[in-house]
Amino acid sequence: MIDFELTDEQRLVKETARDFAEREIQPVARDNDRNERFDTDLVRKMADMGWLGAIVSEDYGGRGLDYRTYGLIVEEVGRIDSSARTVISVVTSLVCSGIEKFGSEEQKQEWLPKLCSGETLGCFGLTEPNTGSDAANLSTRAEKIDGGWRITGQKQWISLGNYAGVALIFAQTDPEKKHRGIGAFLVPTASDGFSSAPIHGKLGMRASDTAELSLDGVEVGDEAMLGEVGDGFKVAMSALDSGRFSVASGCVGICQGCVDASVAYAKERHQFDRPIASFQLVQAMLADMIVDTEAARGLVWRSGWLKDTGRPNTMETSVAKLFATEAAIRTANNAIQVHGGAGYVDDFPVERHLRDARVTTLYEGTSQIQKLIIGRAATGINAMT
Ligand SMILES: Cc1cc2nc3c(=O)[nH]c(=O)nc-3n(C[C@H](O)[C@H](O)[C@H](O)COP(=O)(O)OP(=O)(O)OC[C@H]3O[C@@H](n4cnc5c(N)ncnc54)[C@H](O)[C@@H]3O)c2cc1C
Repeated sequence: MIDFELTDEQRLVKETARDFAEREIQPVARDNDRNERFDTDLVRKMADMGWLGAIVSEDYGGRGLDYRTYGLIVEEVGRIDSSARTVISVVTSLVCSGIEKFGSEEQKQEWLPKLCSGETLGCFGLTEPNTGSDAANLSTRAEKIDGGWRITGQKQWISLGNYAGVALIFAQTDPEKKHRGIGAFLVPTASDGFSSAPIHGKLGMRASDTAELSLDGVEVGDEAMLGEVGDGFKVAMSALDSGRFSVASGCVGICQGCVDASVAYAKERHQFDRPIASFQLVQAMLADMIVDTEAARGLVWRSGWLKDTGRPNTMETSVAKLFATEAAIRTANNAIQVHGGAGYVDDFPVERHLRDARVTTLYEGTSQIQKLIIGRAATGINAMT
């Protein structure tokens, strides 16, 4: 049976994360957003907290936490700044989880300690200019050469791509095999033929690095492949299962940040000689925000509990991701309404929360893709293709 009570350890982890986020992230979040600054000092501090390897086994330099506890950290960081939260989600869920699950002992020893400590950042290179939701239809090619592979292609919208030391690159080894031909490769970004370029002008997540990657005949050894030829799609889907949980947890944080800011503002702001919190229509907005927040948190907790107890959870994780991401947008939008004109500028965090929330229904599977996963689980019929 699901237990919603936090253990003493979970309570401590949550309080520590909240304290860190308010002390270290809050003071820099607005300026990092304004300046599109990927804050490497902050990344190092989060790595020192052990958050980049939260769910990775202690044997490989991680914290060995369960998913529910990991989710609490991600929520607290997301409550303050989604760009900072992205670093944790990408390194921990999209990169480390795949290496831990599919990697050989040598690959785990080589990469996980460096990723967990923040010595090396990782990025997840699945999306391409012409391949988003249809993720199995990759144009990037991996051609077999003596002792290794030669990889050529473009990757688009890759978080952390300009700062990563290793890129988990998904490439097609044999187009005739479709998704069964996809391989996952751990590609050092210092390799000859590998280059990246920053993507500017984003609506939100401005302090999160986003890159276009170019692989022009990048050669890697056989030991760079994670799993076997044909495991690539499984690696990607497994990492996304973890990543969707992480994004959903971060969105619970956005919701909570918006509730906290709005309740405080509504009690301080006076109109018609009364605090605006005393108007029923303002309380109705707060109530809607709180309901969305609590519902999202409950779904995220269920997904984490299923993961921690080894039960199937792809559908439930999609439910949590779909609901929490859409709830974050609704809640941030309501928060701006509660703040009135003051919510439209960055003196308060709520306009940043709305801009940052907006991408969460796009990446790691759009809301439409989540609905198709849920619909397929319910009916047994694949409506995606
Ligand atoms: C800031 C940012 C960071 C990102 N970080 C990463 C990263 O680190 N690594 C990475 O690999 N990718 C990353 N992405 C890419 C992201 O995962 C893709 O944008 C996403 O998967 C959607 O793909 P697309 O943009 O090509 O949209 P498309 O797939 O072209 O979709 C466009 C629209 O069509 C709909 N659609 C598509 N197919 C169907 C269908 N079968 N049925 C119904 N509707 C459908 C979609 O839901 C959407 O509404 C990032 C994106 C952004 C914006």
